[in-house]
Amino acid sequence: MGIKLEVNGRNIAAEKGETILSALNRHGMHVPTICSMKDLSPSGACRMCVVEVEGKENLVPSCSFPIEGPLKIWTHSPRVLRARKTNVELLLSNHPDDCLYCERNGSCELQSLSEDLNIRERRIPGQRTIHKIDKSSPAIIRDPSKCILCGRCVRICEEIMNTSTLDFAHRGNELKISTTLGKALNYSNCTSCGQCLIACPTGALIEHVQFTELEAHIHAPGKLLVAQYSPAVAISVAELLGYKPGTDLSGIINAVLRRYGFDFVFDNSFGAELMIMEQARLYHEHKKDGNDLPLITSSCPAWIQYAEQYYPDLLTHLSPLKSPQQMTGALIREWFPQAMKQEDKEIISVLISSCTAAKSEARKVEMTRKGIPVIDLVLTTRELARMIKLSGLDLEQLEPELPDAPFRSEGSAGKLTAVAGGEAEATVRTIYAQSAGTEIPPSKLHRFRIHKSFREMTVKAGQSEIRMGTVSGLGNAVALIEELLAGKRKLDILEVMACPDGCVNGGGQPITADEKLVRARTKAIYDLDNGSKLHAAHANEVIGEIYREYLGEPGGKLSREMFFTMYSSREVLL
Ligand code: SF4
Repeated sequence: MGIKLEVNGRNIAAEKGETILSALNRHGMHVPTICSMKDLSPSGACRMCVVEVEGKENLVPSCSFPIEGPLKIWTHSPRVLRARKTNVELLLSNHPDDCLYCERNGSCELQSLSEDLNIRERRIPGQRTIHKIDKSSPAIIRDPSKCILCGRCVRICEEIMNTSTLDFAHRGNELKISTTLGKALNYSNCTSCGQCLIACPTGALIEHVQFTELEAHIHAPGKLLVAQYSPAVAISVAELLGYKPGTDLSGIINAVLRRYGFDFVFDNSFGAELMIMEQARLYHEHKKDGNDLPLITSSCPAWIQYAEQYYPDLLTHLSPLKSPQQMTGALIREWFPQAMKQEDKEIISVLISSCTAAKSEARKVEMTRKGIPVIDLVLTTRELARMIKLSGLDLEQLEPELPDAPFRSEGSAGKLTAVAGGEAEATVRTIYAQSAGTEIPPSKLHRFRIHKSFREMTVKAGQSEIRMGTVSGLGNAVALIEELLAGKRKLDILEVMACPDGCVNGGGQPITADEKLVRARTKAIYDLDNGSKLHAAHANEVIGEIYREYLGEPGGKLSREMFFTMYSSREVLL
């Protein structure tokens, strides 16, 4: 910290080579940005973060200006404010003025900047360009007319997700963001992870909303409306409803969904625990076969899509299991109507998930049973929040309720799958018990929880060793997989989650650039586990019961039939 900066009359210290923006942020000084995002390379494209530096004729973009020596800076001088205001006015000049109907109304950065800069009229009239809205993907809708060319989606897709589905095309006035070869999203290499729409400051990228389709099924005669929600949803929706971040609202979700018109509400931690049981069995087989590569998890649909496109030779090392939501969906479609004597009703199976890729997954032919999808509609955490607001219920007056039997879990193993590393941790608890004949104290695996995109740990279980690993963010996953393929690293089980930090930071989650919120979600999941009395899927009586009464054994005939899937190499348009 050797360099002195004077900012708006206050002295702060900076490091040589860091950007002005980084130094300002570290000292809690706010400068608005659009194109800049943490962990992404600076682009300096939007010029919203310009500041005045003594001795410089022009304003400088603080996000890309490296500090080489002492500087005197003004972040909010009249000249700076005028420049920022003009920049926003230029962005607004050809923007469709449909804020009231926009998906991002209330969470749009362009809207907030206009408000903050006191823009009250359209001073710069521009030519509105008509673009075709791309609705081809089941997960993501792209409306180029709302794009302000900040490039955050391009950079997150390339730098963090290693996918490069989106890129800048053409130049000058023609400049736009386009998919590979200008094709529709469903013809591109998009994995539907939704990280681009978390990065998008406006409504140019939004989820393919299905919430409105739900309305037709509410209280419809002859229909049985069944919901399952994933554990990441229960601790994240709080942020959108004015609760403290990380508040577990699962009891309230159960109560609200019933009042909204759902006949049954299930907690998908149950499906996650079934998956853990099946995965533990697969692990032993994989290890016995003496594989050089680890058993690689398959619960993340965006990762599966990526592996099918880029790692066809790795597919035999992927666990053949469907995701927890698809496993629960299969049970809801096939076992539940008989077991609950509801065979005369048409089941409408709804998933509420943190994951936009789950929307694409639900439409895949390999996820159908007898040609019928097991999940009809997939709503995100954001859609759930909207549904709750629309219900008009006073949440403070509602008593928390339990999810319905039989698909519920009183344990925490399934909930752990919401965070990166959680699936591996919960699976190893079961593998350990099966190998060592005793339970592993949960705290023994807490070292695996450090906040890093890749972590590994070796656990001794009886006579054997379990080399466990987890990686999140597709770019990080690729780097690790290349090391595994080159024999530079050895693991027995590897969890891969496409989204950085896992499902708590999925594409369907509340939109935030504040990593403290993502940390609060992760902490909430760990707190649930730390406070639980039932840590392992194999110790969960409800899971035992469904195997005894219906499924038989993990890996048995019925499990294979309902829960296993096939992978195939997919073409990429690159
Ligand atoms: Fe979906 Fe989770 Fe994978 Fe993200 S990490 S794509 S939220 S399953």
